[in-house]
Amino acid sequence: MSQFKLIRSSVWDGVFPTEDPKGRFLHIVIDAESNANVLSRSVLEDLKKTLPRAIEHDGIQAVIVSSAKDGYFISGADLDIIESASDPDEVFDQCRLTQDLFGNFSGFPVPSFCVINGVCLGGGLELALGCSVRIAVNDPSTRIGLPEVNLGIIPGFGGTVRMTRLLGLRGALQWILPAGRMPAKAALIRGVVDALVAPEGFRTLAIKTIDTMLSDNLKSVVARRSKLRSGFLSRLIDGTALGRYFVSQQALKTVRKKTGGKMPAPEKAIEVASYAASNSLESSLVLEARQISQLVTGTISRNLVNIFQDSERSRRGTHEEPTGDWDDEKSLIVLGAGTMGSGVASVALQKGIPVRLRDISSDSLLSGLKVIGNDLHQRFKKRRVTTQKRDALLSSLTYGKELHGLKKCGCVLEAVVERMDVKKSVLADIADRLPEDAIFATNTSALSVTLIQENSPVADRVVGLHFFNPVPRMPLVEVIPGEWTSPETVGKALSLARKLGKYPVIVKDSPGFLVNRILIPYMLSASRLLLTGTPGPLIDEVARKHGLPMGPFRLMDEVGLDVGLEVSNTLFAAYGDRYKASSMLSDMVQKNWLGKKSKIGFYRHQGRQMTWNTTNDIPVNASQLINKPRTPDPIIAALVDPMIDEAARCLEENVVQDPGMLDLAMIMGTGFPPHLGGLLRDADAQGLQVIVDRLEKAHGAGDPRTPSSYLCKLAHANEPFYS
Ligand code: NAD
Repeated sequence: MSQFKLIRSSVWDGVFPTEDPKGRFLHIVIDAESNANVLSRSVLEDLKKTLPRAIEHDGIQAVIVSSAKDGYFISGADLDIIESASDPDEVFDQCRLTQDLFGNFSGFPVPSFCVINGVCLGGGLELALGCSVRIAVNDPSTRIGLPEVNLGIIPGFGGTVRMTRLLGLRGALQWILPAGRMPAKAALIRGVVDALVAPEGFRTLAIKTIDTMLSDNLKSVVARRSKLRSGFLSRLIDGTALGRYFVSQQALKTVRKKTGGKMPAPEKAIEVASYAASNSLESSLVLEARQISQLVTGTISRNLVNIFQDSERSRRGTHEEPTGDWDDEKSLIVLGAGTMGSGVASVALQKGIPVRLRDISSDSLLSGLKVIGNDLHQRFKKRRVTTQKRDALLSSLTYGKELHGLKKCGCVLEAVVERMDVKKSVLADIADRLPEDAIFATNTSALSVTLIQENSPVADRVVGLHFFNPVPRMPLVEVIPGEWTSPETVGKALSLARKLGKYPVIVKDSPGFLVNRILIPYMLSASRLLLTGTPGPLIDEVARKHGLPMGPFRLMDEVGLDVGLEVSNTLFAAYGDRYKASSMLSDMVQKNWLGKKSKIGFYRHQGRQMTWNTTNDIPVNASQLINKPRTPDPIIAALVDPMIDEAARCLEENVVQDPGMLDLAMIMGTGFPPHLGGLLRDADAQGLQVIVDRLEKAHGAGDPRTPSSYLCKLAHANEPFYS
């Protein structure tokens, strides 16, 4: 049975129009087998069969394309199509066919109207762009966008070209490059849709709007579109070759600054859109299909699609994980208004959760409130919240030295100082007042959750919820069940993390948890390289050029050398020599060279200026310099191989569920370059034996780390992490 219904009618009756052979409109209603109307191969096949039948209808005034699903128009192309693509010629042909298919909507002898009721992303919007007019339902569920560049591709079903022809080069790039999801109103303001209708009775309202538009032969639609593009800047930029050249060069510069030139998709989008701005529709579509066929069959797109799938697993949850729902009526109590407490409180407020912020120090409370106020003000300045919304959010925050509001709270999150005695006493203070359906979460970065909950009467409701700094920007949360944590508590913690817009990953309660355990070797290896004569600024530069957000020395200065040293000492106690910090680090801490916070560390910090702290350079003799890495590849290997080894140990010890979740955690928690697909996918691409050989060689040269038995086992069996 077809997933498209062809119904001739003048009115809408509920979801489907009433059949009426003489009806003025031909409705094409999408009702795919998937809940979200995904454009799978079979849906595209059905559309191909439906359209010729549609064209046969005489005497109609308009074609109306709509969806039968509540909250979804079309949520995009099926990822299977992307994943299974291996032959660029086949992809090219498929894209050309689909471009033509969507082009048919504007090829009818009568206008085609697309009614967007809900999510309309990627291929969904490309189909809508094929219609003459778009009408969107003004409801929060309506999200419109072209997220393709996030998957390492460009809109290739005609979207890049048709968007450029609709909005001009500048307007199109503003949609395609950020890969955002716009609400209906923003789509109207920017000209992607031509009219909005209210959600209540939207189908009938859409017909009324269509009638009005038809009554003047779409003149008002055309006039509105030209008005949107008639400003001086638009005419200067879109109307002249020089203007378009300037826009494309600026866009390229911005993209390369952000991606370090590692992501080809946005650059290809700029190329295709620039071409489409001044060339024929047909030749532009051919270029679009050619570019996407190269991108979609490349490794980067495959890596990004895999990460997207892992992130969806984390965001939506899986059947195997414990269930538990965050109750929207409940509030969050945050203990500690320092860096982390104020960050979590700020994010919670923005997500509509009432917060009570408690600290024993008035100064901390004041600075915490300042952070929260600034965050909200920034959102207000960026027009993400209105004045009323900002004031309403602030009014749902209470604060003080006292512990109030326990009755209504769903979670108490402690972000007090990192000391076992303080954490235990905070939990003991609260235990007999914690409501039965509330959980107690600890944001500890290294202490054992099991030890914190030990002997507590509410041990089953204690869980680790490890946020990353800065909380508003870092998407990862490690969820750490202790020995006595109940599955319901884990379920609630996962649900709260998702409510806060984060990506939770369940991690075993073990020293360093997951991300810090893998990250510390990166910093220790950097110190080793420095001590054997590789220049520090070179190490940082090479790491950054590899795609890491920060070189290891800059990272240590940001985190604080004292904090880094303390964590590596904890891990040294747990795991032995491979976490032994060099005496250089403790010497620096003793001198109070703590990094940014003391204005001197590996760098000297003056405002935003940073210069390498040469007094810290170690005099090395000539023999030490022989064979020391001074070129990018060995430096990257020396920094990253120990992380891969530690990641292998984490998998072997079941610290994390699977390689996908580990890679996701490293990307979301440290900014490991997504185009590489994550630490383990990158290791698989290199071949594990190569890594084992390098680790053994480094061990021979004095590195205390020997490759783990699990890594060696996989390498010897010629098996990858991802089987
Ligand atoms: P911080 O020093 O900035 O803030 C701690 C706050 O706790 C201070 O304001 C202090 O006055 C307050 N406090 C102390 N005892 C208290 C009590 N009994 N009740 C209420 N408030 C109390 O520390 P932070 O960096 O925000 O770290 C907090 C926790 O988060 C620590 O466990 C830390 O290990 C963890 N963490 C920190 C980071 C980071 O990068 N800073 C990252 C992840 C996790």
